[in-house]
Amino acid sequence: MIKVTIWNEFRHEKSSERVKAIYPNGLHAAIKEYLDTDEELEVRLSALDDEDQGLPDEVLNDTDVLLWWGHMAHKEVNDELVDKIQTRVYMGKMGFIALHSAHYSKPFRKLIGTSGNLSWGRDQKEIMWNLMPSHPIAAGIPDHFILESEELYSEPFAIGQPDALVFGGWFEDGHIMRSGACFIRGAGRIFYFQPGHEYCRSYYNPYVLRIIKNAIYWAKPCEPGYEIINDAPHITEPIINEFNNL
Ligand code: ZN
Repeated sequence: MIKVTIWNEFRHEKSSERVKAIYPNGLHAAIKEYLDTDEELEVRLSALDDEDQGLPDEVLNDTDVLLWWGHMAHKEVNDELVDKIQTRVYMGKMGFIALHSAHYSKPFRKLIGTSGNLSWGRDQKEIMWNLMPSHPIAAGIPDHFILESEELYSEPFAIGQPDALVFGGWFEDGHIMRSGACFIRGAGRIFYFQPGHEYCRSYYNPYVLRIIKNAIYWAKPCEPGYEIINDAPHITEPIINEFNNL
């Protein structure tokens, strides 16, 4: 059983009739509806305006993979909460999946250590290319698929060199984007996935949903075989003594 929490800022859905018409219960609820068809996943929803910004310790510490969608209220997220998320991911206790405009969220930027800046433009057709069919996040995904309308997100995308680049987006205006990128930080795994603009319908696309599900399985904690210490411990005992005592 993998415990998944989908954190959504959940503001556009309340303030915009257009967004409400597409995602009446929130875009996180659309993702949950799909994930709930997998009995291995236990999925919770949480939102910025919930108590403790949706992530009190008892929820955060009970989450194996945290999905994050935010846009207009990145700055409102408590820095203390962001630190807790970073520590939990670095310690290998939780995976993190940043969706769409979460490229600019506090936790994503803190986790990967860059600005997360990118260029953006009008909604348009996108071709999503599967660049790494052997990667577990690409399981079941064809060589490419088309999103009829997505917000243009374009390079330069300030993420540095990801540990794996699984998907690349090509937009009809000619721009390209590293749309699906994996990062290893500490003992934790992070995936960024670009589709999911609030005016588009990408969280109903079967391939987008499958990729998100695949990413949850990839990012889940890996049960490290030794204790990860969140510190820089001083070594006092030479490890070579293990050999000398044989
Ligand atoms: Zn957007």
